[in-house]
Amino acid sequence: MTLLQVQHLGKVYTTRFGGNQVEALSDVSFSVDSGDYIAIMGESGSGKTTLLNILAALDKPTRGNVILNRKNMVHIPENEISAFRRNHLGFVFQDFNLLDTFSIQDNIFVPLVLAGKKHKEMEQKLMPIAKKLGIENILAKFPYEISGGQKQRAAVARALIANPELILADEPTGALDSKSSDDLLEQFEQINAEGQTILMVTHSIRAASHAKRVLFIKDGNVFHELYKGETSNEEMFQKISHTLTMLATGEDSNA
Ligand code: ADP
Ligand code: MG
Repeated sequence: MTLLQVQHLGKVYTTRFGGNQVEALSDVSFSVDSGDYIAIMGESGSGKTTLLNILAALDKPTRGNVILNRKNMVHIPENEISAFRRNHLGFVFQDFNLLDTFSIQDNIFVPLVLAGKKHKEMEQKLMPIAKKLGIENILAKFPYEISGGQKQRAAVARALIANPELILADEPTGALDSKSSDDLLEQFEQINAEGQTILMVTHSIRAASHAKRVLFIKDGNVFHELYKGETSNEEMFQKISHTLTMLATGEDSNA
């Protein structure tokens, strides 16, 4: 089943005073099936953040459509956007975005509190997710008392708790050491195996080699796509490296 359709997306930024125009996205189209796990890669300035911001309903495109579960996000009225985001999307950021003055448990509850859920329901949802992510023993702690890897797992729990259709992750391993990165990638694979659709932007070839599909963005367009299929992580790593070289040099290093 198709969960997300991105159709001919274009984004032009106009600088103040109507001076320069920057075309950050030119004509981006792709679709995401329910249960997919997609990595988006591309050089700095290629349009990744712009794309993620539009998918997150934080920004509007200049052209094109973003259809999540038959609902065109481009046409959602401004006053319904935050509820839409809360009800349909989960977010994982590079720098975790936990609230320092909230315990880990209260951080995880934030999406449910904003959605006006009852405390009893929140508590019922908490434990299964905390256990899955191995953070059931640090729920009473505060962000400054736990490691980066634990913070990111708390952030993943917060992203999962409202049962979103799609998780959007922006460089989720970017601030983690290699052991914590590998743990997080394993957890992403596990929650994806349980049916959660994930779309992540990453610079990390290692991270991208865990995804089922890798989309490469260049100059605001989808330049290439790799499907993992039965490919091993190691082989996928090689294929991604090769594609990134091609992307950077315009040449096929295997040719
Ligand atoms: P990436 O995340 O891949 O590095 P971005 O989406 O941040 O790329 O940027 C794509 C292009 O759009 C770049 O040329 C960048 O300078 C430009 N850009 C991004 N945000 C803005 C903005 N708010 N105003 C003007 N130009 C922008
Ligand atoms: Mg960026």
